[in-house]
Amino acid sequence: MRSVKAIVTATTAREGAGVTVHRPFPTHNLDNIDPFLLLDHMGPVDYAPGQAAGFPDHPHRGFETVSYMLEGALQHEDSVGNKGIIAAGDVQWMTAGAGLVHSKMPEENFRKKGGRLNGFQLWINLPKSDKLIAPRYQDTPSANIPVYESADKSVWVKVIAGSSMGKKAVIATRIPILYLHVILQPGASFEQQVPPGQTALAYVIEGQGNFAGQEAGSDQLVIFANDDESVSFTAAGDKALSLLLLAGQPLNEPIARYGPFVMNHPAEIREAVSDYQEGRMGEIGRK
Ligand code: FE
Repeated sequence: MRSVKAIVTATTAREGAGVTVHRPFPTHNLDNIDPFLLLDHMGPVDYAPGQAAGFPDHPHRGFETVSYMLEGALQHEDSVGNKGIIAAGDVQWMTAGAGLVHSKMPEENFRKKGGRLNGFQLWINLPKSDKLIAPRYQDTPSANIPVYESADKSVWVKVIAGSSMGKKAVIATRIPILYLHVILQPGASFEQQVPPGQTALAYVIEGQGNFAGQEAGSDQLVIFANDDESVSFTAAGDKALSLLLLAGQPLNEPIARYGPFVMNHPAEIREAVSDYQEGRMGEIGRK
């Protein structure tokens, strides 16, 4: 069982048009956790009717963005001509590759009625050989995402990427990635195989967990050491433990990052900025 290397408490930031996010990384102490570049917990924030905020037009190049909604709904649109709604339980796995411009705004009904926005955005780096591939979407409704539940209902696992508990994700990844949402009832435990060499992280959404003898609670990120082939944890409090479990193969390649562009070298960042500024990543509504 892997030991815990560090426990990091999320910082708070404002993103897009003023959405409050809890962000364990990047911060000035922790830039990236190869192959992961960013984790944002959007909200949870309660909006009055007409007040919900979103993420207006912005570009991406060189990595993947994964949106997973727990509550609320976002309307997505991009410069390649894609459009869709990411509602509660849905996942949008976007491979930005060479680049595009997109927006994620509150979905019409959600904006009108108000309600709670609660979800996640994860950025996963692409290997050098994939940074300029054509953009690809895997818009995956909740009903298509495999879920395991134990007979006594004490363990619930949603398999967004990778395999767990005999379930295999429907989403394809460019490099080996595990992305699970795990909910444990008080006292329940969970163990997951993680191949040697892979980075493994757990972000606690709610509740209290015991991770190899160390406790972490909501808005804390557990970084596992790379010292064994499985991770395990237990719901330690009197409430259910809900967390995201992530693992991925480190790329071990140079990283040059500037806002929404993540490449290997500064010259490639300058190129991305000028491609965006000169409209070569397109414009929403003008395919
Ligand atoms: Fe984005």
